[in-house]
Amino acid sequence: MQIISQISDLNRLIKKWRLSGQTIGLVPTMGSLHDGHLRLVEMARKDSDKVVVSIFVNPTQFAPTEDFDQYPRDIDSDRVKLEKYSPDLIFTPTTQAIYPKGAASTRVCPSESLSQILCGKSRPHFFDGVAQVCSILFNIVQPDFAYFGEKDRQQLVIIRRMVRDLHFPIIIINVPTERDVHGLALSSRNSYLSEEQRIFASELFKTMSRVKSQILAGNQDYAYLCNRAIEHLTNMGFVVDYFELRNSIDLSEDLQANRCIFAAANLEATRLIDNLLVDAEPATPIPVSYNIDSQATELLFF
Ligand code: AMP
Repeated sequence: MQIISQISDLNRLIKKWRLSGQTIGLVPTMGSLHDGHLRLVEMARKDSDKVVVSIFVNPTQFAPTEDFDQYPRDIDSDRVKLEKYSPDLIFTPTTQAIYPKGAASTRVCPSESLSQILCGKSRPHFFDGVAQVCSILFNIVQPDFAYFGEKDRQQLVIIRRMVRDLHFPIIIINVPTERDVHGLALSSRNSYLSEEQRIFASELFKTMSRVKSQILAGNQDYAYLCNRAIEHLTNMGFVVDYFELRNSIDLSEDLQANRCIFAAANLEATRLIDNLLVDAEPATPIPVSYNIDSQATELLFF
């Protein structure tokens, strides 16, 4: 397991791997790793000859008022956690290396119909920053597969669409959300919460689960169910950003199939986001045997 910070060193290694016909899996992260991240690395290890984990707290996805400076960083502990999953490489670039032109760098703007809804309403800059850094990482690492968590489903959908629209020859693999014993989705930001607050925070998932049960029992008054959920969470002390039902594949309001509950709420200063499928999605299109010469882009279902 090597750690590389210089892009020129990485370029040399990637060239060597590609020339010898090896497949590459990329797991982009912002570090402060937990079991959710490690599940992505575990899946990448199964699919690819070479696995790259990038650790980069991306400044362009934070607004000036947000927690970029406080965001937890612990590369030593990340390295120890990763050892068990033996990625071939941990890529830890500097901000200067990723954005040599700083604020004048080229921007990447996903479709506003995807990026300005849900989290994008209160964080309008966020998905532009995510798309920008993922494009850069995709170009540097040249992966065959890139792994994204369903916990950030809006991000997953936007990256899938970006890969299709910009013709990146990459297959995006989604990985189910890892939760703690109380149901709270694991997140690096959970480190801002006390143990007691984490248990309390799981009420977000429990509320989503109750709404899902009511829908599956036949209640189709989605607006009523979501409003009641918002009322309940607000009474409990959450500041709800949104609690909505949308289509899990394209985030539209077409709820004929692929219904998914999306929610975001603040518990004091900590932003929690989560989502819960109401209808099972089509199986993840992981190729059984992947031929590096025929990029299987038709496997993308969105
Ligand atoms: P982050 O470091 O928060 O940018 O996350 C890096 C990747 O890990 C993203 O693809 C996330 O969706 C994924 N991820 C974060 N938390 C979880 C979780 N609890 N379960 C599964 N994947 C996750």
